[in-house]
Amino acid sequence: MTPKRLLIVGGVAGGASAAARARRLNEACDIVVFDKGPHVSFANCGLPYFVGDVIQDESKLLVASPELFRDRFRIDVRTRHEVTAIDTDERTIQVRDLTADSLHTEAYDALVLSPGARAIRPPVLGIDLPGVFVVRTIPDSRRIRAWLADHQASRAVVVGGGFIGLEMAENLSHRNLAISIVESAPHVLPPLDPEMARPVEDHLRSQGVNLLLGDAIAKIEQGEDHSLVVRTRAGVELATDLVILATGVRPETTLAKASGIALGRRGGIRVDEHMRTSVPGVWAVGDAVEIREVMTGVEAILPLAGPANRQGRIAANDIFGHASRFRGVQGTAVCGVFGMTVASTGVSERALAREGISDYERIYLHPGHHVGYFPGAKPIRIKLLFRPSDGRVLGAQAVGEEGVARRIDVISMTIQQGGTVYDLEEAELCYAPQFGAAKDPVNLAGMIAANVLRGHLQLARWEELPDADVLVVDVRSAEEHAGGAIPGAINIPLEELRGRLAELPRDRELWLYCQVGQRAYYATRLLLQRGFRVRNLPGGIQTYASFTSPAE
Ligand code: FAD
Repeated sequence: MTPKRLLIVGGVAGGASAAARARRLNEACDIVVFDKGPHVSFANCGLPYFVGDVIQDESKLLVASPELFRDRFRIDVRTRHEVTAIDTDERTIQVRDLTADSLHTEAYDALVLSPGARAIRPPVLGIDLPGVFVVRTIPDSRRIRAWLADHQASRAVVVGGGFIGLEMAENLSHRNLAISIVESAPHVLPPLDPEMARPVEDHLRSQGVNLLLGDAIAKIEQGEDHSLVVRTRAGVELATDLVILATGVRPETTLAKASGIALGRRGGIRVDEHMRTSVPGVWAVGDAVEIREVMTGVEAILPLAGPANRQGRIAANDIFGHASRFRGVQGTAVCGVFGMTVASTGVSERALAREGISDYERIYLHPGHHVGYFPGAKPIRIKLLFRPSDGRVLGAQAVGEEGVARRIDVISMTIQQGGTVYDLEEAELCYAPQFGAAKDPVNLAGMIAANVLRGHLQLARWEELPDADVLVVDVRSAEEHAGGAIPGAINIPLEELRGRLAELPRDRELWLYCQVGQRAYYATRLLLQRGFRVRNLPGGIQTYASFTSPAE
């Protein structure tokens, strides 16, 4: 039966999408959106840049206003209205008008929950002191801006080195604050594998960021005037003018839980592929829900704007009888870090290990974001994970200054379509010198992986290098070798290799490397055809650097 009254809890990414789509599908329905905050449809993703003064006009963060919803869509948006209870039998909700401080009941035929997530606040002493902030809403960022101005802040401690933590670090640095980041994991950006996070960490340090990895805040104390002192578990003391908590979020499930709507094993609201909850007449979307991760099939919480928007649309489609289903998530994300771009899609090696999946192979490459002969080419460091049994692409991570997001988006689409490394090899991508290469980095990733699967190239594992009984051969030039080489490696430049074969043992495996992997591949093909046992150290010495200890 077509609902006559649709109520929506939460009016930002998922809720606003559901409301607007619902109106496009049905002119007759009464649609009411409740949000406990003062705004709807605001750009949470822009908040760090508002703090950093990159976005200076607060009104730019308001994508749509209640008036726009009313005039354009005839949707009734009620801000400062908190939904406090759901009666799923009676199909009613209880709403508190926070301005009038009054409580009333509203009936629904269909209800969409999009209450988002709440910031995790580490349970340490001093976490509620003035000067300690989270960044979830426009008022949060307004308070941070006011604090920066009122206290002439020059130092900040950011707790958490995930996407939002790093964006906040960049933006506060943009306002000339000295930044310390405290991250309890051994590396920044948890969706990445450690060796891919390493260049990001090096870059942060090169920008003057004081990076404390594998450490956590233990206590925050009031310092002199308005300053604070953050003490870490490792005993580090950081004097600061403000603290930003960016330690992740938890799905906001208070309402759902209290009204008997089932939660999943990750603690988010359980939904099916149509975004239906366990209770008829109630749908849920966005940060509050848990959904299937497509590569591993396990439930995941992925608090990102893209899935929230698409899920809002799908819920509205389903409510009004239009077939539509959410395909699951694969964790495609991008982040800017002090001029560097970091992006990933699909599973990481760590996630594969966590799920006990060992049927995978990985390659590394460092192509330019466009052809080298055109001025300004910047390298992109790419890691590709794929399944040897059928070539299916499992995941990719990329770090660089330019062209990173585009490559990850192409690979993301390949993953969504169930594509293989052969699809990447054959992908027809646009090319002109300033944009890419006739063999785009995506094609190169596919070609290298396909070479592995075709047996044209065998890979060595960097982790096994220290204990491997092999001869390591550096096929770079003598000058490059002299400038820094893997300990114990002999140097035979590729150009001299054919004339110096007698120097190489036939009873011992050779592990070849060069700067980024290309010359070593040529050398591998040459030596394999001459009967040598050869493996390639993927990604060359550029990747080796990421597997060795960081320079503190
Ligand atoms: P939200 O957008 O959080 O909206 C939930 C709304 O529900 C809130 O306004 C809240 O007030 C309201 N609400 C909750 N409970 C109730 C109740 N009981 N009654 C009434 N109202 C209620 N994602 C990206 O993909 N890329 C980015 O670059 C990115 N950057 C981000 C930067 C920051 C600082 C933040 C905070 C998030 C960022 N995100 C980013 C995440 C993205 O914003 C969220 O994934 C997305 O907004 C989730 O949408 P949602 O509708 O589930 O929840």
